Amino acid sequence: MAVQLTEIDREELRQRYIAERDKRLRSDGNEQYQEPSGRFSNLLDDPYVQTADRDAIHEDVTVLIVGAGFAGLVTGARLKQAGIHDVRLIDKAGDVGGVWYWNRYPGAMCDTAAMIYLPLLEETGTVPSAKYVPAPEIHAHAKRIATTFNLYDGALLSTGITSIEWDAAISRYIVHTDRGDVLRARHLAMGTGPLHRAKLPGIRGLQSFKGHAFHTSRWDYDFTGGDPTGALMENLSDKRVGIIGTGATSVQCIPHLSRAAKELFVFQRTPSAIDERNNHAIDPEWFGTLGTGWQREWMMNFTTLQTMGFADEDLVKDGWTDISLRIRDRVIEKIQAGESPGPETLLAAYEESDDEKMSEIRARVDSIVRNPQAAEGLKPWYRQLCKRPCFHDEYLQSYNNPSTHLIDTAGKGVERIDETGVWVNGVHYELDCLIIASGFEVGTSYTRRNGYDVAGREGQLLSDYWAEGMHTLHGIHVHGFPNMYILGAAQAANLISNIPQNYVENSVAIAAVIAEAERMGSPAVEVTKEAEDAWIELITSNTRGLRGGEDCTPGYYNNEGKPVGRKEQLNSSGHPGGPIAFFNHLEEWRAAGTFAGLTFTK
Ligand code: NDP
Repeated sequence: MAVQLTEIDREELRQRYIAERDKRLRSDGNEQYQEPSGRFSNLLDDPYVQTADRDAIHEDVTVLIVGAGFAGLVTGARLKQAGIHDVRLIDKAGDVGGVWYWNRYPGAMCDTAAMIYLPLLEETGTVPSAKYVPAPEIHAHAKRIATTFNLYDGALLSTGITSIEWDAAISRYIVHTDRGDVLRARHLAMGTGPLHRAKLPGIRGLQSFKGHAFHTSRWDYDFTGGDPTGALMENLSDKRVGIIGTGATSVQCIPHLSRAAKELFVFQRTPSAIDERNNHAIDPEWFGTLGTGWQREWMMNFTTLQTMGFADEDLVKDGWTDISLRIRDRVIEKIQAGESPGPETLLAAYEESDDEKMSEIRARVDSIVRNPQAAEGLKPWYRQLCKRPCFHDEYLQSYNNPSTHLIDTAGKGVERIDETGVWVNGVHYELDCLIIASGFEVGTSYTRRNGYDVAGREGQLLSDYWAEGMHTLHGIHVHGFPNMYILGAAQAANLISNIPQNYVENSVAIAAVIAEAERMGSPAVEVTKEAEDAWIELITSNTRGLRGGEDCTPGYYNNEGKPVGRKEQLNSSGHPGGPIAFFNHLEEWRAAGTFAGLTFTK
């Protein structure tokens, strides 16, 4: 469904983008969302396990890893590989897996290719079943990592942290939990993840709804029937179901709801951009031909191409690399045609490629959705990377099902909710069940998202130190917080298209630092203020930000349309050379063995 640039009225498009953005801009930005409370306070509970009583633990531990998602698991595995065996995972969930533990909605899967998304495939001897794999397979892989590297040993699951405080006298973090444990951790790795605390839409009357309601991250199969593998939700056959939100989660569960519900009402504020997915099985025989080290090669190849670098071959070949390859090839064309290789050429290539791509995505809607009014409503009018791009081969088709209704709120969102249903544009939609697909907190304070703070040297709180934005070396080390390691992407590679690769790479360096401290018998490792400041200066010189843009529709990729100040810049910066430059830098830094910028107390 190729669309040529010459077929697009680009000025008209620009005006439309701005008009659509303006409809959605609101002064409360991130503040519009509500924390789980009232009838939704159980949203923070774990419905998947019966928590068994156990004795409180009072122990020393060499490394305590907070969070048993891929960040914690990969770091745990690297520590074991580096010869550090006294490692404990702690998580409030009843099992490992992080978001893949909590999110069990029907249709859940990852649309980053499994070959690069699932970490440690080689180390665990795993063959993914398909190019894109479903959530239960991803969760099973998380458990496999834990088993392979003995990370269940000593793991404290169904355990929430209540406080963390550095004790300078013994050079350890004192960690209290809601199970009465007191752990004295020499090193503390924080793998708490960016998108785990559910948020509720700021809609008047939300709490008053008397029918059944739940958030997608706590899917209630007891009510709906069906299961996480996608079995038909037979209990919905006589139900009028509403879903609020049309982000990546909703796009995946709507085809299942559409099949099962008597009537489905999709309340949309902004449509997602839905590109094709083209999933296919992985042939184990072909997989067997891949040589040692293939996974890092694939990850690096994807990231190189996805960030507009050069490689002989596109190994992953998907929607993510397609966006970047289009831009890259245009830049080459322009330079060959005599344009200067500066930022203006890059920006022009980006805008032209994006106009083409988004026109194709809108044309795809017309080619699939038969009802012209629904098709019009499902067309996204913004740049592809203003919001999380989605890839799906059944979502748009759902609107051809006569019992599935798109209720487009023209960018305004749901008007209000009452005891029996949802109001939009003065029309009441009576519902038996309301599903909230409004996503997760992004950009709120660390303490709010996790429920506790970290007190470092001299009682300094991490939330105070970061009140005006993150401050780290490599996104990992924080001055004033010895022996603490942040497991994330910001201020590092900042690679959002394949989050686990950030962990796979960073964890090698973290394990090396901890192993060095242990070898030296050093009780405390800390980044100097100078090294941290120099790093901040480097990453804030980042000019690679093509994600946001003035004409972007609001969302969590762009601070909900609010101006991006220094704080937001700090929280979402990466190496100015891009992810590959960061990974190379970190590898060289580690391999040098001096760990420049860190001091190891003797
Ligand atoms: P999102 O934050 O992406 O989406 C929330 C949705 O709720 C948006 O459509 C938003 O509209 C809508 N909304 C919020 N308030 C209102 C309101 N008052 N009235 C109507 N609609 C409202 O959350 P998701 O759970 O969908 O996804 C979160 C992230 O998790 C993704 O961005 C992605 O990173 C990850 N993910 C990845 C998946 C994958 O690999 N395929 C699958 C699922 C999730 P608006 O857009 O206007 O703000």
